[in-house]
Amino acid sequence: MVAADSMNSLRAVMLGPPGSGKGTQAALIAERVGVPAISTGDMLRQAVADGSELGQRVQQILDSGALVDDATMADVIELRLAAPDAEHGFLLDGYPRTLGQCDTLDGILDARSQELDLVILIEVPEDELIRRALARQRTDDTEDVIRKRLSVYRELTAPLVDHYRGRGLLKSVDGDQSIEAVQADIQQLLTVSA
Ligand code: AMP
Repeated sequence: MVAADSMNSLRAVMLGPPGSGKGTQAALIAERVGVPAISTGDMLRQAVADGSELGQRVQQILDSGALVDDATMADVIELRLAAPDAEHGFLLDGYPRTLGQCDTLDGILDARSQELDLVILIEVPEDELIRRALARQRTDDTEDVIRKRLSVYRELTAPLVDHYRGRGLLKSVDGDQSIEAVQADIQQLLTVSA
């Protein structure tokens, strides 16, 4: 059970295509609820910036728009969720991204006798995603890479929508609105789920 603002624990996943604004929304909600927003994309980019062994291994994969393998990601997320700040909750942004990663997450939570409360899907039409991505102009956001990311999302990550819907965990919001309007819708959805 979850209740916005009065929550002392929320274990949730933000799901949505690249450019749907899930990172922005995750950070806002996490701050409000008092749990860490955990972005595996940020963690990997930091590893690349640090030049760590992990960073060297994943740099080319990040640049191409493909996914880092599930085994590597399992190590990354297991370590991060073991940190004290994630003990009472978290908002995951960018993990899980494959059905195999869903299993890994379930395994980690099972071992802690915990479960997911909620999966929030942010829905945005594909032409709007491309428009946003081109406007954002991150160094790795060439149109080819953007299209690659979207096709990877469709093929490997979109199946998570049905997976979590089948488990009764999925709630969706219309992401084709202002940041504030999307945030208000998520807030509302957290309140209704309480
Ligand atoms: P993001 O910032 O979430 O879009 O992630 C940027 C890139 O990091 C992705 O395009 C992937 O190459 C990699 N990445 C982030 N999270 C994952 C994940 N859960 N599984 C595999 N690769 C990931």
